[in-house]
Amino acid sequence: MALFSKPIKTLDDLFVHTLQDIYYAENQITKALPKMIGKVTNTQLKLAFELHLQETKNQIARLEKVFQMHGQPVKGVTCAAMDGIISEANEVMGDSAEAEVLDAAALMAAQAVEHYEITRYGTLIAFAKQLGRNDCASVLQETLDEEKATDRKLTEIAESRVNKLAA
Ligand code: FE
Ligand code: FE
Ligand code: FE
Repeated sequence: MALFSKPIKTLDDLFVHTLQDIYYAENQITKALPKMIGKVTNTQLKLAFELHLQETKNQIARLEKVFQMHGQPVKGVTCAAMDGIISEANEVMGDSAEAEVLDAAALMAAQAVEHYEITRYGTLIAFAKQLGRNDCASVLQETLDEEKATDRKLTEIAESRVNKLAA
């Protein structure tokens, strides 16, 4: 993953930069999720993380397809926001002494991840359409729908069990 990217002069450059940003972020998530799966206790939460890990791997493949469709090399640039969300998650989960509280902390972190992804994919879709790349937009839309569904599922889990048990 390159630390520095090319100067961003056009909307097309910004589109490619943002693709590289979310590509890096998705790759970091595939490294973080197995650790979270290992730490949480709630079965529903564990299953949701396991499913989303598989989805995330597929989302990475979709991004690689979009790079290819747009004639760009597959490449990541450091996403300081995702690094920050993940390091905050590790800190809070590391400090959670009770299993139920740790589950609530993991849920909180996972929803921060989903919300970051939702903003980025939403923007990427808007940029793609503006650049006349409806083909890229529709591939990215599949991922946006998965991120939104994951966020809704995490909210349901939080409201049904995890926060009540942690209280
Ligand atoms: Fe994702
Ligand atoms: Fe970023
Ligand atoms: Fe996600």
